[in-house]
Amino acid sequence: MRKRKRRRQPEKAEVIRLELCDLCGATFPEDDMVRRYVPDSSSVSRHNDWSDGLRLVTACGPDHLDVLREIYRRRPYTEEELWAAKITRELTHGPPVLSVEELGCRTGLYEPEIRRAIAWHNSHREPAGDTVTGEGDG
Ligand SMILES: [Zn+2]
Repeated sequence: MRKRKRRRQPEKAEVIRLELCDLCGATFPEDDMVRRYVPDSSSVSRHNDWSDGLRLVTACGPDHLDVLREIYRRRPYTEEELWAAKITRELTHGPPVLSVEELGCRTGLYEPEIRRAIAWHNSHREPAGDTVTGEGDG
């Protein structure tokens, strides 16, 4: 009589961390991801100023990373948009901002830049109640 082989039990459950492709939305193991910074004037970090104006994109492979880089390469890079994003960051996090001077100190922007950023923001905001995501379902 043959002895039945016992199945080996893994000592620890292997945890596979998943990532999400910014282009196709596919999930894939973290080890397979490709990630790069691309220029994007709408992107500011809550944690580090050095990456303001850069967006970290994640792709499922080099082909989709190339497409993402091309999309952001074609997107207009606007100083006023970057300034507006910095202002929004300061107005939505941390202690309240009480004056334009204080906002200037916290953003590193001069008053004329703040005014240009606010003008840019006001001319580019979406109408209330009409949310546009920019992405279709198919
Ligand atoms: Zn993908």
